[in-house]
Amino acid sequence: MTIDIIGAGIGGLTTAIALEQKGFKTRIFEQAENIKPIGAGIILANNAMQVYEKLGLRKIIEENGNPISSLNITKANLKPLSKIDLSYFEKKFKVKNIAIHRGLLQQILIDKLNSSSLKLNHKLRKVTKNTNGHSLEFQNGEKIQSSTLIAADGLNSIVRQNLFLNNSIRNANQICWRGITEYNLPQKYQNELNEAWGKSERFGFVQIAKNKVYWYALKSFRKNNEEFNVNNIENYFFEYDNIIKNIISSTKKEQINTAEISDLKPTNIWYKENICLIGDAAHATTPNIGQGACQAIEDAYVLSECLKKHDTHNAFKEFQKIRLPKAHQVVNASWMIGKIAHLTNPILIGIRNQMIRMTPPSINRKQSEQIFQLASL
Ligand SMILES: Cc1cc2nc3c(=O)[nH]c(=O)nc-3n(C[C@H](O)[C@H](O)[C@H](O)COP(=O)(O)OP(=O)(O)OC[C@H]3O[C@@H](n4cnc5c(N)ncnc54)[C@H](O)[C@@H]3O)c2cc1C
Repeated sequence: MTIDIIGAGIGGLTTAIALEQKGFKTRIFEQAENIKPIGAGIILANNAMQVYEKLGLRKIIEENGNPISSLNITKANLKPLSKIDLSYFEKKFKVKNIAIHRGLLQQILIDKLNSSSLKLNHKLRKVTKNTNGHSLEFQNGEKIQSSTLIAADGLNSIVRQNLFLNNSIRNANQICWRGITEYNLPQKYQNELNEAWGKSERFGFVQIAKNKVYWYALKSFRKNNEEFNVNNIENYFFEYDNIIKNIISSTKKEQINTAEISDLKPTNIWYKENICLIGDAAHATTPNIGQGACQAIEDAYVLSECLKKHDTHNAFKEFQKIRLPKAHQVVNASWMIGKIAHLTNPILIGIRNQMIRMTPPSINRKQSEQIFQLASL
């Protein structure tokens, strides 16, 4: 059986690798002419790294990234509000959280593809049902027949828009800048992700390799983001710690990526006949708990196991049953954290910070454990 995958993002590529390793033949169709990921990093949390361990990719990802042993929320001056110590999970699951350049990760995944064919410059334009499955029409004029289709084409999935009813994309009214700069953090920050919360904005940074820091900054907007300009980022964070100001000023402005933050309102139907949505196409989340790609990676693992055990229809049914509750838990938690992080009222900010400080580490650990634990299959 040949399985067709739309989209060569982290979700589509990981799915192709997982399926190949189970003996399936796959074809991946990607709209881009070249794989050119944005200049940003990504944090592969413990759950994602457990999957990559199973796929034989843990070592190479570790070699190309930087281990993160603590996730911290701080005030704008980097005074800690909460700290999640990851060593407990490293021992329990025997893998680390890794921060890595997105481009490197994508290249590692492409290099691992073996029998799958990756077809670039194939932007899917239309999917139509017919008696043998579905007909896929591409912008380049090509038309192919597909018997089994996995849609890993992201938040704005054309497959979802063509064939599934619920397509409610929610704009979080937050603008996000991401950048990478040549910088070495002070020793104490080298193996931590720090996210500093202020007043309707926040700034996260992490070392992803020697002399490379990945950072992201988010700011709320009311009606549209036009009032914000990438050249003014320093001004938006002028009250933040000097490390943050240095990171911003050392980044080349033309290399900063700007995007609005959105997610997909949770939807309960991810599959239809021989088509299944995965990753952001099925459950795009805001990036507030750094789990979007990790959830896509979990999808890849669970879906490949299901396809190995069941016929296509039952595999998709079982996949949705296993994955939907956790993916929706992530979407909902992340949406709520995005709101809490961007409070503007100083009294509410004070209460929020006090509550974060007082949350017992055992509660933070329990919440992380629910996310890091893979489904037992
Ligand atoms: C600011 C920010 C920070 C984030 N940080 C993290 C993090 O630290 N950790 C984490 O786990 N997640 C993070 N995420 C989320 C993560 O980036 C996404 O969840 C993840 O990339 C989803 O992967 P995907 O493969 O499902 O979709 P995508 O990455 O969107 O890939 C979809 C692919 O499909 C292709 N495509 C789209 N339409 C078509 C078409 N019609 N025909 C052919 N190809 C098509 C696209 O070109 C693309 O290659 C972050 C997101 C943001 C916005």
